[in-house]
Amino acid sequence: MSEERNWAGNYSYRAQTIHRPGTVEQVQELVAGAAKIRALGSRHSFNDIADSAGALISLENLNPAISVDAAASSVTVNGGMKYGTLAAELQGQGFALHNLASLPHISVAGAIATATHGSGDRNGNLATAVSALEIVTASGEILTVSRSSTPDFAGMVVGLGALGIVTRVTLDIEPTFDVRQDVFENLPWSQVLENFDDVTSSAYSVSLFTDWRGDTVGQAWLKSRIADGEVPLRGRPEFFGGTPATEARHILPGVSADSCTQQLGVPGPWSDRLAHFRMAFTPSSGEELQSEYIVPRQHAVEAIEGMRALSDQISPLLQVAEIRTMAADDLWLSPNYQQAGIGLHLTWKQEQKAVEKLLPLIQGKLAPFAARPHWGKLFHAEAAALEPLYARLGDFQSLAERLDPKHKFRNDFLARNIFGA
Ligand SMILES: Cc1cc2nc3c(=O)[nH]c(=O)nc-3n(C[C@H](O)[C@H](O)[C@H](O)COP(=O)(O)OP(=O)(O)OC[C@H]3O[C@@H](n4cnc5c(N)ncnc54)[C@H](O)[C@@H]3O)c2cc1C
Repeated sequence: MSEERNWAGNYSYRAQTIHRPGTVEQVQELVAGAAKIRALGSRHSFNDIADSAGALISLENLNPAISVDAAASSVTVNGGMKYGTLAAELQGQGFALHNLASLPHISVAGAIATATHGSGDRNGNLATAVSALEIVTASGEILTVSRSSTPDFAGMVVGLGALGIVTRVTLDIEPTFDVRQDVFENLPWSQVLENFDDVTSSAYSVSLFTDWRGDTVGQAWLKSRIADGEVPLRGRPEFFGGTPATEARHILPGVSADSCTQQLGVPGPWSDRLAHFRMAFTPSSGEELQSEYIVPRQHAVEAIEGMRALSDQISPLLQVAEIRTMAADDLWLSPNYQQAGIGLHLTWKQEQKAVEKLLPLIQGKLAPFAARPHWGKLFHAEAAALEPLYARLGDFQSLAERLDPKHKFRNDFLARNIFGA
């Protein structure tokens, strides 16, 4: 295999082959015959989570059929389906997902496997919308599991690719809704931190962008749901001391907003507003690394203050940071397991060695708050460090042992972070 890399280009897969089966039966045969194999999504993770010492399976050639069950308020898709494709199709049929990540380019199975999230005090991460999975397990057999009938289902959704190849995913849907997106600039930190709960509950989804330096938050992106038939009034004149942007903004100062979703309060479908970036464009900066730590909601202000105190060390390597909020859930390996949280996200320059050197300092600062790292981004940890953060880690280990007794789906990432090398 010629060198195959992840989206960011910072990781080369060591797997010798990437299979692209056209049918689920072929997936079953490949898995049954392999000693080491794993699923590869759209490659948007920044670490070795997707890799395998043997082969990888991409589902990009599987039947892209999207099957809506209006009566059950659900949609079933191939695990390799990208959220952007699904969102456009659902919108066309009059339905919506509850939320999207910053980018629509990621695969459904890859995103839920790492508990990928958007923002919103009352929004669970994307994995919380999963009501059923079809998984090709280590023997090559198909296991169908559901929220309503499978006892360990809550352990299977955020599966880190450790339980098998997820070939079909069923997600909760709701009637379509419109959203307006407004950006405010230069919010004084003092006002944001004094009123943190009011700030994050001001819209359906709120994101704050900062470089951690100075006295102001650079931008606040507010995505507000518009009720049926409501004619949106003009936006608010100010937001906790911030002023409305007068033109569309990119999250990075000085970068064209062409790649970003519609702003300036223009109402439109959820599918074109809930992500920050548009499907047809490169998301984010395109040349970057990312890390993110999920901190329990009650420590939000202290944790933000901690990051600001490290700004001299962080800022030279940083492109931009984003603060989001997520509702609690009951998914065993979700960073929001039984706790609402804030995500402290860092988009780094592509200086991996320097970033990796800095991560222990950041993690030390956030350790008193029991911060949980995003599984798909750069972090510094090992099983011993993560174990106390995940009450159900032992149950997940047992589940993986049961479904994958010969450790076909194990890789270095899992050895380091879940099972102990
Ligand atoms: C520009 C950019 C913006 C991002 N924005 C956000 C954001 O807003 N919020 C957020 O939370 N994260 C964000 N991320 C991180 C990203 O969402 C996660 O890393 C996500 O897991 C990537 O999904 P993927 O399809 O690329 O999966 P991959 O990175 O290819 O794989 C991730 C994991 O999923 C497993 N997997 C993939 N497919 C399957 C399958 N069919 N069956 C079983 N396991 C499978 C893999 O084995 C691996 O363990 C961003 C990343 C980038 C590059």
